[in-house]
Amino acid sequence: MMRIKSRCIPLLLYLLFFCGCENSADSKKSHQQVEYIERLHHQKKWTPLAPQKKAMPRYAWETEIPAPFPNITKEYFRCRGSVMNPTRYIHKSHALERLEDCGGSTSHSLPLKNGKEFIYPILIDLMNYLQKTTRHKVVITSGHRCPKHHQYARIDGQSLHSKHMLGAETSFYVQGFEHEPEKIVELLMNYYQNPKYTNEYTDFQRYMRDDVDVSTLPWYNKEIYIKLYLEGEGRDFDNRHPYPYIRIQVRYDRDEDKRVLFNWDLAEKNYLRL
Ligand SMILES: [Zn+2]
Repeated sequence: MMRIKSRCIPLLLYLLFFCGCENSADSKKSHQQVEYIERLHHQKKWTPLAPQKKAMPRYAWETEIPAPFPNITKEYFRCRGSVMNPTRYIHKSHALERLEDCGGSTSHSLPLKNGKEFIYPILIDLMNYLQKTTRHKVVITSGHRCPKHHQYARIDGQSLHSKHMLGAETSFYVQGFEHEPEKIVELLMNYYQNPKYTNEYTDFQRYMRDDVDVSTLPWYNKEIYIKLYLEGEGRDFDNRHPYPYIRIQVRYDRDEDKRVLFNWDLAEKNYLRL
């Protein structure tokens, strides 16, 4: 057997190393794929579009200037009754009738609809619209009235029926416009000047009958009825302030496609006693 001299070992290792590397490089080359460029350097397969400057989408609070007051919600329409209000006496058939107020929102809920407290949405929308357009505070003096508070608050001789009990009526004035209520009426009519409304909503009529308790002819469209109470008119218990004020009644329920009519059964039963 041939013996390998120890001085030859480095030479053998050197040869093995280089032979191995050479084989590995050949193997890599065999797997390489070459793709040839089929165009000249000045030729382009497509022309990139020039970048267009695009404005960032605006957030809601950037496009719409919010009213400088919190949004009006149904909370603003809670009954104004209070056990702190004094007993009132009114003349009735040669006798005095004693009237006590209700306990207000601590004693009962708003009207209920499908198990939830409810105020006609158009009233809430109109109040917020006025606040946004005038940028002045809307003061709701009377929203929901339970039957007990309505009887307590109404003027002697005024009807016992009221859509206040259904959450379909509100009285209010706008701070800063106390003595310009006609401008507020105009804004209420402007609310409906929108392509989504038909003529029945955009065209307001004047109520020409004489069975009203105001000196200004009321206005109405299909959905609402607007009354303007001047100074000295309609001073019920909820409206003891010195300003003219506006009362809006809902005439038509757009969601249910039917007229809104007062009925005692609904007025008496549609709220929770707490
Ligand atoms: Zn009440």
